[in-house]
Amino acid sequence: MSSEPIEQGDPIRVAVMGAAGRMGTTVCRAVLDAPDMELVAVIDPPHVDEPLENFGIAGTGLTIEMVGPSVKKADPHVAVDFTNLDGVRSNSRWCALNGVHAVIGTTGLTPGDLQDLSGLFNGERANAVVAPNFAIGAVLMMHLAAIAAPWFESAEIIELHHDNKIDAPSGTAMLTAQRIAEASSEWGADPTKTYTLEGARGGEGPAGIHIHSVRLRGLVAHQEVLLGTTGQSLSIRHDSYDRTSFMPGVLLAVREVAKRPGVTIGLESLLGL
Ligand code: NAD
Repeated sequence: MSSEPIEQGDPIRVAVMGAAGRMGTTVCRAVLDAPDMELVAVIDPPHVDEPLENFGIAGTGLTIEMVGPSVKKADPHVAVDFTNLDGVRSNSRWCALNGVHAVIGTTGLTPGDLQDLSGLFNGERANAVVAPNFAIGAVLMMHLAAIAAPWFESAEIIELHHDNKIDAPSGTAMLTAQRIAEASSEWGADPTKTYTLEGARGGEGPAGIHIHSVRLRGLVAHQEVLLGTTGQSLSIRHDSYDRTSFMPGVLLAVREVAKRPGVTIGLESLLGL
């Protein structure tokens, strides 16, 4: 049995997983501000029974809960997950089994996780949109880098993030390298022969493309793709200055997920790219 269709004109009922976190609170605000959505449940196990108000969001009357029967009773159409690896693994299972579509922003998912998601969200009961970067500008940056790649012989990626990010390199940097590698195989060899400092050339991603990870207090999420050929270079840079940059992409995914059977990876198809 598939999940109840969302009737046209009805608000989309949204649950937020990780609602007390940095991204979760931003998603709660964005959903509350969206005229076509209703925030119906907020989930964050370490903060169960605390009012959402404690996290700077007043006037909803919502209290933080665990996933389970009371969330099911709130009858969300879509759950948005910005948690951690353990969280997203158990939450996505719950969503799939309960016919709740999932919009997943949590990063660090392995190829095995993506395979598990394809089994869980097979389009029969619920669908999922999974994106390592919901900033539309970042999606365009990756798209433009792939278009440019065949015209260059060198490519390097510098990703820069805040000083609380626990994984490196970013999922966006890895995906960008993969997209560039798929677009061209004509890359020059790395000239480096000796190292006075191990790791100075960063990590090697797909097609040997070097990825450099900067962690700096004050930053949010930034990336520069450098492409070089004889006598010229092209830099494609994207900056997320605060977490609201991800919200148009998250809301787009919330609006689209019910219409896209199975698992959709990345926002490209939602943007018609
Ligand atoms: P955070 O630590 O501020 O928030 C995570 C929240 O999840 C915490 O409040 C934590 O208590 C909660 N949580 C833990 N286990 C849970 C569970 N089982 N169910 C529900 N909630 C649970 O982290 P953050 O900065 O908000 O980032 C969260 C994730 O989003 C990270 O993986 C980060 O890399 C990713 N992220 C993705 C994008 C994107 O565009 N895809 C953008 C920014 C951050």
